[in-house]
Amino acid sequence: MLAAARRQHQRAGHWRALSAFCSERDLLFNLHDVLKIEQTLFATTPRFAGHSMATVSEALSAAVALAEDKFAPHSRLNDAHEPHFNPESKTITMNPQVKTALTAFYEAGFGAAHADEELGGMQLPQTVCHALMFPLYAANVGSITFPFLTVAAGNMLRAIGTPEQHRKYLVPMLQGRFTGTMNLSETQAGSSLGDITCKAFPRPDGRFDIVGNKMWISGGEHELAENIVHMVLAKVADPKHPERTPPGVKGISLFIVPKRRVDADGNVQGLNDVALGGLNHKMGWRGATNCVMHYGENGGCVGELLGEEGSSPPRWATRATRRRCNTRATAGRAGRWTARTPRRRRWPSSSTPT
Ligand SMILES: Cc1cc2nc3c(=O)[nH]c(=O)nc-3n(C[C@H](O)[C@H](O)[C@H](O)COP(=O)(O)OP(=O)(O)OC[C@H]3O[C@@H](n4cnc5c(N)ncnc54)[C@H](O)[C@@H]3O)c2cc1C
Repeated sequence: MLAAARRQHQRAGHWRALSAFCSERDLLFNLHDVLKIEQTLFATTPRFAGHSMATVSEALSAAVALAEDKFAPHSRLNDAHEPHFNPESKTITMNPQVKTALTAFYEAGFGAAHADEELGGMQLPQTVCHALMFPLYAANVGSITFPFLTVAAGNMLRAIGTPEQHRKYLVPMLQGRFTGTMNLSETQAGSSLGDITCKAFPRPDGRFDIVGNKMWISGGEHELAENIVHMVLAKVADPKHPERTPPGVKGISLFIVPKRRVDADGNVQGLNDVALGGLNHKMGWRGATNCVMHYGENGGCVGELLGEEGSSPPRWATRATRRRCNTRATAGRAGRWTARTPRRRRWPSSSTPT
């Protein structure tokens, strides 16, 4: 798939334009000469033994081609026409090019680049995966947000999820059928996550009823996939004394809360009482939705514990830190394009909003 995308791109004669926002040569130099991934990763780690600089170079060319063909052309459009909330249907309208770009991203296999081969992945090292995402972040930070969050949520599932949770949620996320989010923040709790008030009430079937609100949730709602898998931080409450929750960060647990319920094989069922309250408007990064989320307003929101009760802080802290590193890297990449590209070439004219 990657080779086909690369050949198609070469035929289209796009090579010259690529340096506008991403230098393939610089990325390969860093991987090969600076990080020496052949010696430090491929030769030492059996998981990566099937890879070489040739496969990395091919994957990188395909990523650049995808960025140039499917992501960059609607970057400006995303900025000018941000996602729109329809209050009656509680749905979101978005530029259709976003969905086209994401379909191409998953068809080329990038959504599972890091994942195990047995799950349909390429088993590429994270270092290489970051390099592959570089041109995509630089081309269109809004559209790439959805897969970027999904990969991060999937990594957490892969690390601490059960085999059943992998089947139900991880596999569809790797295929692009489901997207993922992280739900840490609340209106009154940003850095101070010990103050969250979102609650989880134990159910007889071992799952939890989730009740609460979340704020600033990137990718919290959209119509780009069959389902959205929310990773939600909440505190387990005593049903008889719901006001009693464990204090501080030690009382926080992590829950998988899908927008639509899912059966054991990953098939989507009915809605799960997860409602969009509204969209937040940002000064940049407008192509991605940023949402106010309501969980269990009608008492019908069911979640599954991910990992052990009260043991999530190290996990989500790692993930949040990684995501924030990615966010910083994203800003750097976008800035690089802006700084290096003459103004008239920054946005392809075909993307000019009409
Ligand atoms: C574009 C965007 C997307 C986001 N997406 C998500 C998302 O998908 N999911 C999600 O859960 N959240 C998301 N957030 C929210 C984000 O995680 C929070 O903004 C962040 O946790 C900081 O919280 P806060 O904004 O309430 O700032 P505050 O916690 O009020 O912090 C304000 C300032 O005070 C400093 N500060 C805070 N506490 C201390 C302290 N104890 N000591 C010293 N300094 C301190 C902070 O460093 C910061 O500079 C997003 C935010 C933005 C802007």
